Amino acid sequence: MPELPEVTTTVKGLNQVLPHLIIADVWSDYHVGTKNKSPEVIKNEKFLEYFKKEVIGKTVLSAERRAKNILIHLSGEKTILIHMKMTGHLLFGNYSFTGSKWTATDTGLLQDPFNQFIHFTLSLSNGKTLAFSDMRKFAKVTLFETNTRDSHIDLKNLGPEPLSHLTKETLTQQLSKKPRGVIKSVLMDQTVVAGVGNIYSDEILWLSGIHPERKVESLSTNEVGKIFDSMIEVLNTGIELGGDSMSDYRNIYGERGGFQNSHKAYRRTKQICQKKGCGGVITRKVIGGRSAHFCNIHQK
Ligand SMILES: [Zn+2]
Repeated sequence: MPELPEVTTTVKGLNQVLPHLIIADVWSDYHVGTKNKSPEVIKNEKFLEYFKKEVIGKTVLSAERRAKNILIHLSGEKTILIHMKMTGHLLFGNYSFTGSKWTATDTGLLQDPFNQFIHFTLSLSNGKTLAFSDMRKFAKVTLFETNTRDSHIDLKNLGPEPLSHLTKETLTQQLSKKPRGVIKSVLMDQTVVAGVGNIYSDEILWLSGIHPERKVESLSTNEVGKIFDSMIEVLNTGIELGGDSMSDYRNIYGERGGFQNSHKAYRRTKQICQKKGCGGVITRKVIGGRSAHFCNIHQK
């Protein structure tokens, strides 16, 4: 699932191409054959009709990331919210619609097989298309009044942003809300810290030298400080490398990021630990329903 660095990469791309463009048309087939149709997502056909009515003719002002959500702010006080979930990613380029299928007409990366599962598009006033590829159709697309963001169900309970609103002190405070939790799960809890998921929590804990099953209440001030420093370093590296494309993630031009080549723990099961002089082996264990990967020696 895209985490903070991947969503940041997408939002940076959107801000390069979308502002000032007008949304000329909306298309989606999310409502076909999907379950769990909550009334306020475009998987619900009635909501899709409302979404179209509200969005067509509006101008894109800017894009923003909050936790793992993409917010696209429009004129008329409307904001589109997209959560990419497991396999979603936004693409930008030239497309044509033939039969019942969207096809990239630019030759190149937009034709990568991972970019072919188009279930939602915005046709733009410059002739380009913002297309959303989502193989498993788990993503969420909705719309809200911009001035209601603070009370929006997907935004109101989120913890602070690690790269702009977090300090060692506020991290300590946030962690103290879950004293009995294990650190791996608590780091992925979006109400504690925003934007960290399975990949980056493994990498943060590897760099901190902290075992993923440590109870939060057992961590010393020094250890919380190490987690904070590692979080900033690992997330910034993820952004510098354009995100992680071990799975489906691609940037808006269909290109892969590079963080998957820098993993120290995530999906390196049975490989030798890369920490100098450690000699440990990366081990996989299911913790809180998710696979954790960690060194059996230096993560204590
Ligand atoms: Zn190690």
